[in-house]
Amino acid sequence: SDKSSIVSFGEMLIDFVPTVSGVSLAEAPGFLKAPGGAPANVAIAVSRLGSKASFIGKLGDDEFGHMLADILKQNGVSGDGILFDQGARTALAFVTLRADGEREFMFYRNPSADMLLTPEELNLDLIRSAKVFHYGSISLIVEPCRSAHLKAMEVAKESGALLSYDPNLRLPLWPSADEARKQILSIWDKADIIKVSDVELEFLTGSNKIDDETAMKLWRPNLTLLLITLGEKGSMYYTKYFHGSVDAFHVNTVDTTGAGDSFVGALLCKIVEDPTILENESKLREVLKFANACGAITTTKKGAIPALPTEAEVLALING
Ligand code: ADP
Repeated sequence: SDKSSIVSFGEMLIDFVPTVSGVSLAEAPGFLKAPGGAPANVAIAVSRLGSKASFIGKLGDDEFGHMLADILKQNGVSGDGILFDQGARTALAFVTLRADGEREFMFYRNPSADMLLTPEELNLDLIRSAKVFHYGSISLIVEPCRSAHLKAMEVAKESGALLSYDPNLRLPLWPSADEARKQILSIWDKADIIKVSDVELEFLTGSNKIDDETAMKLWRPNLTLLLITLGEKGSMYYTKYFHGSVDAFHVNTVDTTGAGDSFVGALLCKIVEDPTILENESKLREVLKFANACGAITTTKKGAIPALPTEAEVLALING
């Protein structure tokens, strides 16, 4: 059968971003469409690097939903896991970085199609074909997609996939910060690989010191790899056997959207190619260098999907 290496589960949506920077949503003279959603970005990152990827999620049977499905297909991501909801619309977000430095969000989610994915609708054969099953988005927040999320994780685990989790905390979507923390940590020990940002590390541990002691608060005995991404400071890694950090690349950053997804996509590709990197520190450091380069390149262009690199671009940055 046609096996998928990496199956990514969750939401795909369109961010509407003001045509000029530093304004509030109300002041925006116009908006540009930026397709995204962290799990979809990861699937496209994997595909652009040359590995097989599938995306599982639900879209509205509307103009935006079909646009997003086309983007996945154009990027070589298998559409076998895409569903269209006949009633609800595709999720939309309006996002701006205001002049005062605060991010402002407004969402169309009442409810959007992605939230209505049910456990019965899941393509179980596709999930069973995964070598790595990646997830992590707001699909934990509400039913029925929460049950679908938990079932998909269980099926993937039973069939021997590595589970990869990125909480992708988007706090404005949760009923409360406490609820977000509780739900995110409730599935923590089910994952084999977890990637958090420095902001998520602080949110989940309550400590603003980025060091080994804080990172170890997120460690669980059955974890294989814990990663903490630090933007222009690179990334930190923890396994049962070793831990350390790998520096970032210096680039001309214009928009950091999607850097974390690019980093994760690169890492997962390399794990599928050679699972022994999880037990070999020098191999893992090489892979994280590659993943840091992917993240760095993604910050040099506007938007997430258009900025995800090919392997040739990554090697060009690494080999200077
Ligand atoms: P997230 O998008 O999840 O917050 P980061 O912003 O930390 O994740 O980015 C992921 C990785 O991308 C980082 O570990 C780093 O290697 C790279 N990266 C991100 N921002 C920059 C930057 N400004 N310069 C160079 N590399 C970056």
